[in-house]
Amino acid sequence: MYYFASSAALPEELLRSIDSYLGRWGIALLLVFLLLALLGNLLLKRRMQHNRALLQSNQEMLATILDSVDAFIYIKSPSLEYQYVNRRISDLFGLPPDKIIGKRDETFFDARSAAEINQVDRNVLDSGKKVTVEESNVLLSESRVRTFLSIKMPLSMSPGAPPSLCGISTELTDYLEMQSRTHYLAFYDSLTGLPNRRLLMDSLTATIDHDEWATSFSAVLVIDLDNFRLVNDIQGHESGDQLLVSVAEQLRQRLDEEVTLARFSSDEFVVLTKNLGEEQKDAALKAERVGRQLLEVIAQLRSSHSLPISASIGISLFTGTGEHSMDSVLQQADMALQQAKSAGGNTLRFFNSEMQTSVLERASLEADLHQALKRNELALHYQVQVDHQGVTTGVEALLRWYHPQRGWVSPATFIPLAEENRLIVPIGYWVLRSACEQLAKWSHQPAYAPLSISVNVSSVQFQQPEFVRDVEELLAETLAPPNRLVLEVTESLLMHEPVRVRSTMLKLRARGIRFALDDFGTGYSSLSYLKRLPLDELKIDQSFIHELLTDKTDAAIVDTTILLAVSLGLTVVAEGVEKKEQLDWLRGHGCYRYQGYLFGRPTPIEYLFESY
Ligand code: C2E
Ligand code: MG
Ligand code: MG
Repeated sequence: MYYFASSAALPEELLRSIDSYLGRWGIALLLVFLLLALLGNLLLKRRMQHNRALLQSNQEMLATILDSVDAFIYIKSPSLEYQYVNRRISDLFGLPPDKIIGKRDETFFDARSAAEINQVDRNVLDSGKKVTVEESNVLLSESRVRTFLSIKMPLSMSPGAPPSLCGISTELTDYLEMQSRTHYLAFYDSLTGLPNRRLLMDSLTATIDHDEWATSFSAVLVIDLDNFRLVNDIQGHESGDQLLVSVAEQLRQRLDEEVTLARFSSDEFVVLTKNLGEEQKDAALKAERVGRQLLEVIAQLRSSHSLPISASIGISLFTGTGEHSMDSVLQQADMALQQAKSAGGNTLRFFNSEMQTSVLERASLEADLHQALKRNELALHYQVQVDHQGVTTGVEALLRWYHPQRGWVSPATFIPLAEENRLIVPIGYWVLRSACEQLAKWSHQPAYAPLSISVNVSSVQFQQPEFVRDVEELLAETLAPPNRLVLEVTESLLMHEPVRVRSTMLKLRARGIRFALDDFGTGYSSLSYLKRLPLDELKIDQSFIHELLTDKTDAAIVDTTILLAVSLGLTVVAEGVEKKEQLDWLRGHGCYRYQGYLFGRPTPIEYLFESY
């Protein structure tokens, strides 16, 4: 019973005790869980705080690093707005980062710089490649150009999104300025600012070694002040320095830009002038001209106490053919300088005596030419032009110079000289006047009235602004019939300022004057100006006529020229016809106007029609 009673009561009891036991444990467990969760949460929070602090300190560290780097670091969005800038950028733009973020380069740089930066950035983003570029930019707030070396690369901020641009730029401005200052100090003279001996030597070596100048002559002129020591001794070194500075300035002003002028030693200057042509004589003449100009400039200078200043110049010509070295060129110029000094100074000498003679010769010819007009030494000879029936249609006026000592001087010698020193302007005017006077005389003589006179006009003369006015005045004054006057121009004239030349030609043509293109085929014959310019005649150069019967190429050129002239409606005149066979060939090929010894040599007017 007890058993039963106890066995029946036991489960209930047991259950209750189990129940309360479990309930207690459950609560305890729950509490433990809660405690654990709380603890976990606390730990998590602490870790997060720790991490955040770590991140913050990392970020600060990074920012500190980026801000203390001596470079401009930035990130730009795919649409090139600034997303991040370091302190150097802030300093550069003079704005805090928040005023920069979200803006584009147009806000900070001038339009050109911004466009250039933009283009580089775009290339980086489009190509996905890192670039290293030198950028020269101007900030809106200043005017100087800053040069940066920039490394720019695409930067992927989040997967799938278009890349941003990360850039690191270092400023090179100061470095470059320093470099150029160092270069300046090494290669330029600090007193005069001219290239120094070292730079001159470099240029000279380059000229001698350079293939481009192989056949063309260059010249070195060594200029030494004659009485510099006197200035220094009497007036002191400061005056001496001032004098050197003014000499340098004056010489620089007088010389063309491509000519090198260097200060070689205390009172010695050196000029290096290149590309003087392939003819030694011409090159010598050009170098001499430069030298004379410089002597003149120096002679005009007076030291502050009015001491007369002069210089001596030694000139040496050379080519890049390998037969000269830098030392030999300078030595030769120096030897020539010593000769100029021994001759009393204020003069120039060439190294080579042959050159010296030819320069002196030309100089004296030039001096005489200046007097030729005044002394009545110039004359016009006339050479007939005939048509295919042998009828004289006109004459060409050819200038002659009879020199009292030299005799007849060839126009081939004195006309280029007159063109160089522009004496051709008054001489050409005289030729035109004489021709007009002759035309006026003929206009009253029925036998000669239909004849025209062709006058050679130099490009120098033609390009004078007063040319049209001069011709018109001459026509009015002499009453010469304008439609009997033919002006012969050369291809070289048509090369320069074709618009102005055309307009001058049109003005004169409106007066009835005709134009012939002389020496056709010897210049840069261009069909385009033949068509564009108001020409009436084409004169085939005599060099083609000479070999006409023996040289197939010349024959082909003459043939084509005749066809061309005819198709353009131009009269074609063959120059230098000396043989009957040449005449027959020309006639057979459609050329009906001739000039040459076969019909008559250039003759004074009084003998011109003797046989008529
Ligand atoms: P150009 O105008 O082509 O003149 C023709 C030249 O050929 C002349 O030489 C003439 O004497 C020469 N000549 C004519 N027929 C023959 C021939 O059958 N055989 C040979 N071998 N030669 C012939 P010139 O008189 O010595 O004149 C040379 C150049 O000087 C002229 O060439 C012209 O360019 C220039 N010139 C002459 N007079 C003047 C002038 O008054 N003013 C200007 N600016 N230049 C002139
Ligand atoms: Mg001529
Ligand atoms: Mg000619």
